[in-house]
Amino acid sequence: MKRVGVLALQGAVREHIQSITACGAEAVSVKWPKDLESLDALILPGGESTTMRRLIDRYGLMEPLREFAETGKPMFGTCAGLILLAKTVIGREESHLGVMDVAVERNSFGRQIDSFEAPLTINGIEGAFEAVFIRAPHIVSVGPHAEVLCMHDGKIVMAKSGHFLGCSFHPELTEDHRITAYFLSMIGDKSDLLLPKTSTYSKV
Ligand code: GLN
Repeated sequence: MKRVGVLALQGAVREHIQSITACGAEAVSVKWPKDLESLDALILPGGESTTMRRLIDRYGLMEPLREFAETGKPMFGTCAGLILLAKTVIGREESHLGVMDVAVERNSFGRQIDSFEAPLTINGIEGAFEAVFIRAPHIVSVGPHAEVLCMHDGKIVMAKSGHFLGCSFHPELTEDHRITAYFLSMIGDKSDLLLPKTSTYSKV
């Protein structure tokens, strides 16, 4: 059985665990570096990226998470989790993990609309996906090998770059588990590891 971790420091942890379980995999809460051992993949949930970053430092997880990223095992960042993965966070001098070749901007959908739902068309997923956005970031640009999977309102809201998957919204807050299943299907796919490690951004 596939073992999928969820970084369990803050945010929508329980919902991701339910979604992983609904997809027939084993879900593991990750709080300490040792919890990363023997996982096949890892999800960084939505929440508040600055709070999560503080907790990552406090629990000594920064280097272990970067090492996990280097193993080539799939990592999925949703909303704040995407911000943690991104190589560039607009307006911040340094990224957090800085492993996924995308640039993101926080709180991208206007102050008044803190949260909203929208039906999305996603490459690789058949039919519309009703997505929940909460003070969501968007992807401003992607690296040369990234695949844009979804746009909303002229903005990139989901992309895949090598073994990293990221989205602006909260797929775990609905009963629709197709995005979690899509992520689980990335386990064991080594083809992306053959890509050269470049980090040039291309404006899309
Ligand atoms: N705006 C939050 C941040 O910057 C992300 C919001 C979310 O994860 N729902 O971390």
